[in-house]
Amino acid sequence: PIKRIAFYGKGGIGKSTTSANLSAALSEQGLKVMQIGCDPKADSTMLLSRSKVPTVLNVIREKQDQIALSDFVIEGFNGVLCVEVGGPTPGVGCAGQGIIGAFGKMNELKAIETYQPDVVIYDVLGDVVCGGFAVPLRDGYAEDVYIVSSGERMSLFAAYNISQAVHQFRNRGYAKLKGLIFNSKGGNNEEQRVLESLEEIGTKLAFTFPRDPIVQKCEKESVTVIEGAPESELANKYRQLASILMK
Ligand code: ADP
Ligand code: SF4
Ligand code: MG
Repeated sequence: PIKRIAFYGKGGIGKSTTSANLSAALSEQGLKVMQIGCDPKADSTMLLSRSKVPTVLNVIREKQDQIALSDFVIEGFNGVLCVEVGGPTPGVGCAGQGIIGAFGKMNELKAIETYQPDVVIYDVLGDVVCGGFAVPLRDGYAEDVYIVSSGERMSLFAAYNISQAVHQFRNRGYAKLKGLIFNSKGGNNEEQRVLESLEEIGTKLAFTFPRDPIVQKCEKESVTVIEGAPESELANKYRQLASILMK
């Protein structure tokens, strides 16, 4: 069976950095990974892809009906398959509708059946959990959901809303909230605020990542920590969480 995991969280909190490093770590374990960025920013797979990933929505707009999977599925680091949903036409489209359209096109072209990944990682913006952004939870895509959050108020607020959304759809799909991944920003009493919020959010702490400048160093070279600093402590932490995800 394919493992399907979604990471939700406020914008700028570290979802893509974390997702990309986990994908890289999973690929090291010999697993075939597909990472699907569901953020209009379309930079989810930036650290993995060797070249620019054309977004599904742009490909749909440009090529309409003559689309091949290889137009938007790009092989990156260690064979990780990189996909970016992309964004709607600014000013007229709805990002949520965009996700629905992109997922529809991927289903139609049999993306999963063709590439047969062992793991699919969805990296989803969780600032607004409207119908569109909830698709990975709602229609049986993701089975495990993790929320990425710092200790900042707005990030924990988003975490609460995401948890409510998972709860809302628990009978329809099979998405389960597995825990909160604390990605530290380094503020005062940050960890304590996270721990105190867990009960209200309704989940447990799944993992803690420290703030580490090695992330920025690798980002400058456009690589994951797994690739750019494979011996680092942080790389080992990503590997540790990758193993937990597969249990
Ligand atoms: P999101 O995908 O949630 O919008 P990103 O993954 O793009 O967020 O991360 C936002 C910024 O935070 C990035 O520039 C990244 O370098 C930084 N960052 C993320 N995690 C860490 C960390 N553990 N230590 C240091 N910097 C981090
Ligand atoms: Fe679309 Fe959701 Fe934005 Fe509304 S909040 S416009 S449904 S993406
Ligand atoms: Mg992102």
